[in-house]
Amino acid sequence: NEARLRRSENLASMTTMAAGVAHEIKNPLAAMGIHLQLLKKAFERKETLTLADADRYLTVLEEEISRLNSIVVDFLFAVRPMDTRLRLAQMTKTLEDICSFVEPELEEHRVHLIKDFASSLPRLEYDEHLLKQAVLNLIKNAMNAMEGGGKLILQTRLDGDQVVLKIQDTGIGMDEETQQKIFEPYFTTKATGTGLGLTVVYKIMKEHKGDITVQSKLGEGTVFILTFPVPKSERLALKWETEAEVHYES
Ligand code: ADP
Ligand code: MG
Repeated sequence: NEARLRRSENLASMTTMAAGVAHEIKNPLAAMGIHLQLLKKAFERKETLTLADADRYLTVLEEEISRLNSIVVDFLFAVRPMDTRLRLAQMTKTLEDICSFVEPELEEHRVHLIKDFASSLPRLEYDEHLLKQAVLNLIKNAMNAMEGGGKLILQTRLDGDQVVLKIQDTGIGMDEETQQKIFEPYFTTKATGTGLGLTVVYKIMKEHKGDITVQSKLGEGTVFILTFPVPKSERLALKWETEAEVHYES
């Protein structure tokens, strides 16, 4: 029975992922334990702790807490059945929201943002919260790939029955072998990565009957290409619009 098979496959992948999370959580917990001990010992021996040392220990604690948080949040996103609420909306508006949200951080990282949005797009059916999550994950990765700064290009185009969103960076890029693995859960090349960001993005794109592909060149940069189907109702509207234009012109 197909449904049961799918359920047991889901359970199996959930077990693998849970084992992955348990493993991922061990390192930050160990680091937090060590730095708490250092602070505690200083207090117990009534040693004077330099402000610089205290600051260093607390910074480690702060960073590891934030890492634990993203491990748990990404994990939940990756395994939980998504509560997807599709609504007709303007993607340009959603992207503008995302841009104003990330612009301060991009500036801080000396990343120049270039927006190249199609002047008019049909409305798409998507879950705004999920789409934001997906695009933010991709922007975060792009930023990580451009340590010394660079260019981030967001482009939208209408291509037949699809809307194409390209997210391009001028970062470190990836070799072929890496590109093959990036959507696998827990694949990461970063010291503090969870390897779940793109797993979540992939899952979100599937929820939208869309697709995601990657093109990348080591040392040059990466572009993620997301495609979204234009809903039937909007295709009709689009057709009428074009016909109306033709009518007015003649
Ligand atoms: P994480 O960011 O935690 O490593 P992701 O699933 O988001 O996990 O990404 C997996 C891996 O894909 C990254 O570790 C990195 O090697 C590679 N990657 C993703 N996006 C980019 C990018 N824009 N440029 C270069 N490498 C990337
Ligand atoms: Mg990531």
